[in-house]
Amino acid sequence: MNITPNFVNKKTWNKVLNYIAMSDEQPPYLLMDKEVIRDKVAIIGRNIKNSKVFYAVKANPDIEVLKFLNSLGIGFEIASEGELQMLKSLGVEPERIITSNPVKTFKFLEQAVSCGVNYFAFDSRSEVEKLARYAHGCNVYVRLTVPNEGSEWPLSKKFGVELDEASELLLYARDRGLNPVGITFHVGSQCNNVYNWNTAIDKAKELWELAEDNGIKFKMLNIGGGYPIHYTKNVVDVETIEKKINKVLWRKFPKDIEIFIEPGRAVVGDAGIFVANVIGKASRGDENWLYIDVGVFNGMMESIGGIKYNYVVGSRNEPKEWTIAGPSCDSFDVIDREVELPEPEVGNRILILSSGAYTISYASEFNGFSIPKTILI
Ligand SMILES: *Cc1c(COP(=O)(O)O)cnc(C)c1O
Repeated sequence: MNITPNFVNKKTWNKVLNYIAMSDEQPPYLLMDKEVIRDKVAIIGRNIKNSKVFYAVKANPDIEVLKFLNSLGIGFEIASEGELQMLKSLGVEPERIITSNPVKTFKFLEQAVSCGVNYFAFDSRSEVEKLARYAHGCNVYVRLTVPNEGSEWPLSKKFGVELDEASELLLYARDRGLNPVGITFHVGSQCNNVYNWNTAIDKAKELWELAEDNGIKFKMLNIGGGYPIHYTKNVVDVETIEKKINKVLWRKFPKDIEIFIEPGRAVVGDAGIFVANVIGKASRGDENWLYIDVGVFNGMMESIGGIKYNYVVGSRNEPKEWTIAGPSCDSFDVIDREVELPEPEVGNRILILSSGAYTISYASEFNGFSIPKTILI
């Protein structure tokens, strides 16, 4: 493992190799490089005027990760009482917390309001009614459906409403004693299509005008998450995406508008490197199988949704094509196919790059395999 993969920061790579060499910790575990997180936080939002960044906690809710992010002064986007309690335990002020899940549980809503959280999304009449009851007078924003083409993890079907319905819901929210302050959307996670933001912003602009015609004065546009990271394919960088977004916003929206951004993957994804063990090999038919001790159920859930990770092994053997599977007895537990890798030995380490987002947060103890530890380096 002495060669730095070309898109991993050399410093990160050295820290990882050092940690593996010096530590008694048994894999599998997830290493998170604080410097990478710090760099991401410094970059995200920098090229969008008047923006505030709220980290989507579900991407990686490890308490040490949250503590570190809190020390950097970032805001947080949450959806549950569990996420709220963690932030409270760290002393995060309610002004730095928003909640963009358009369908919230009663328990969460009650707790969030009593803690002083004051920004809530909605996209249905029943949610307006719920908010009117639990969050009277609070700031609310409507979630618009926008195209998710080109996103590897589309989210569009579950949430959001079209323009006319959004416009009606805003009036309904106002009539029910809520304070409509703006609009949100999500272009889909791991979005590598910059035009998705353009289309979404155009649509938000239309809604902005409809609302204004109805006497609703907005002040905020929440452009959601979706910034992509480098897995196996090159992606557009955050700076380029934000400069494009900023140009469109500047042209179309009032100059005093406040922009909220809710990145999850882009904040923590690249900072994470999984360290796992090769636990078995087999050839079945014409396929070479490699079994490792992290799989779909204890960290690699997104692989079944199409995320392809980069793997590194220390071997200098000839590359072969592998099907890589996790440790459980479930046949769903296959994390990748047709992966070119030099043949490792059973007992060797295997590293999985860019695995800091949506890995441990999805992990379960299915089949008795424990959830890998997260370690900040
Ligand atoms: C998950 C989520 C995000 C974060 O999305 P990424 O693609 O990880 O940046 C942001 N906002 C909302 C409402 C979400 O549900």
